[in-house]
Amino acid sequence: MAYVSGRTYLAIPGPSVAPDRVLSAMHRAAPNIYEGEIVEMTHGIIADLKRVAVTTQHVAIYIANGHGAWEAANANMFSRGDRALLAATGRFGHGWSEHARRMGIDVEMIDFGKNAPVDPARVAEALQADTNHTIRAVLMTHVDTASTARSDIAAVRAAIDSTGHPALLAVDAVASLACDELHMDEWGIDVVVGASQKGLMLPPGLGFLWFSDKALEVSRTADLVSPYWDWKPRGTGTEFWQFFGGTAPTHHLYGLRESLTMLLDEEGLPNVWRRHETLASAVWAAFDAWSTTGNIALNMTDPAARGRSVTAARIANGGAGSLRKWLETEAGVTLGIGLGMALPTDPAYADFLRVAHMGHVNAHMTLGVLATMEAGLQALDIPHGSGALEAAAWAIARGAASKP
Ligand SMILES: *Cc1c(COP(=O)(O)O)cnc(C)c1O
Repeated sequence: MAYVSGRTYLAIPGPSVAPDRVLSAMHRAAPNIYEGEIVEMTHGIIADLKRVAVTTQHVAIYIANGHGAWEAANANMFSRGDRALLAATGRFGHGWSEHARRMGIDVEMIDFGKNAPVDPARVAEALQADTNHTIRAVLMTHVDTASTARSDIAAVRAAIDSTGHPALLAVDAVASLACDELHMDEWGIDVVVGASQKGLMLPPGLGFLWFSDKALEVSRTADLVSPYWDWKPRGTGTEFWQFFGGTAPTHHLYGLRESLTMLLDEEGLPNVWRRHETLASAVWAAFDAWSTTGNIALNMTDPAARGRSVTAARIANGGAGSLRKWLETEAGVTLGIGLGMALPTDPAYADFLRVAHMGHVNAHMTLGVLATMEAGLQALDIPHGSGALEAAAWAIARGAASKP
């Protein structure tokens, strides 16, 4: 007997759950793109996008996914043969570096492995060794969606500044934006990379780059840029079509208007961050209890170095794979696969999973996933400690009681 009838829940780290209000806002006739509502509305969207990254500088919108936004970031910052320093903390830094290499950028990689954040001291060392200042930018991921490692961006900025090196700091915040606290201007970030289908709660289809005045200056002489990816007309142009390099992504803009209103004006960004913090703490509390028996472990041991939007874990002997399958076929919940931890051909591949708690997620959704996982662990006879659900409930109760 399966229990899948009812509303299913996709708990993977993107695409995240799109609110019904966002989907309804998109369900409409195409607008006139030459004048009227959508032209007016876009000015407000651009202003609000800056509020999401907490910046007063620039933002460019692309009809693309996160990979497209990576390519756009590379194209605007670099000239062929320029050097980049990439600090990798899981899978996504490697992806970004492969894009950069194929574009002719000389990438030096510091690989922090699969369960550690960026060590700012190592970034400083690499920059100190670059006495001729040939490294144009430091690239890093805020939250790596595979390892779920979270790095301290402000500390990396301070490390860069301590060396007197002029490198830009570019941050992939696709998995953290509008989930995990991020202050572009205060933390001295030059480029923030984002996409629509995670914390922004939209379907995939939009990529974003927020960029600083300093990055804009660098881009004026970067020779990798091609017309479509150029952030100058998108971020500093005046005509409506320039913002999109052609026809506007009309329906995504209606959805984005709705999600920005929900995040910024109704809930408020500090509350969005706190909600993710609390929901993440509930997931971790459950895993802490489960992992007292058997062979279950969170990938990131230090809570300070864990992303607040997604949690990677290991359940040995193929337990993660069987649990994922049980949840999907018996209970209507889809968990994330373990990404980049083992090759799909390696039996250890079935030992990893990820639980997303990203975007349009509340206490009952998160407690529901955890309770369903508990049922799966029991049904499958996977050894696990007790008290996980009680611990998760306490984490929610503590979060609800704490003052903003
Ligand atoms: C999802 C994600 C990406 C890639 O985004 P796509 O839209 O799948 O191209 C890049 N970086 C991080 C950190 C992500 O979580």
